[in-house]
Amino acid sequence: MDRGESDRRSGIGFDAHELTVGRELKLGGHVVPFDRGLAGHSDGDVLLHAIIDALLGALALPDIGSRYPDSDPELADVDSRRLLQEVLGEVRLRGYRLEQVDCVLVCDRPRIQPYRDAIVSSLSTLLALPPDRVGLKAKSCEGTALAIPGSSLAALAIVQLASGR
Ligand code: MG
Repeated sequence: MDRGESDRRSGIGFDAHELTVGRELKLGGHVVPFDRGLAGHSDGDVLLHAIIDALLGALALPDIGSRYPDSDPELADVDSRRLLQEVLGEVRLRGYRLEQVDCVLVCDRPRIQPYRDAIVSSLSTLLALPPDRVGLKAKSCEGTALAIPGSSLAALAIVQLASGR
């Protein structure tokens, strides 16, 4: 690498969780009003999990399930924002900074559009990025085999890292 040239890395992440009664629906650290939430050993925040996996992938590290196994009782109902902050610390420790994130939520219900700005704002705060560097789209996938009405949510995320502070 030439002196002064920035080392750039990209990472991709994916996650899916079932919807279940009796839990809050947390997406990107924001609580979305709905009659069900996401099942999981942690708080089930599928969007943060996809972003965490993208960050780990950019660093070529093992995935979120290896780092935070669901057999660990210490991680029961853990706030995924805590896991994200730990992984962002790992990013900094290795000499990188997060420059951009882009995400897709695959979600038939609830409709995400009314909450989109609040989720982006939450992600912007959690990731220490300006909102114009946080992409978020929601796709219902209606009419296709990918749509599983009301039963689950999935998320994809891609991140861009650059070396330096
Ligand atoms: Mg997950």
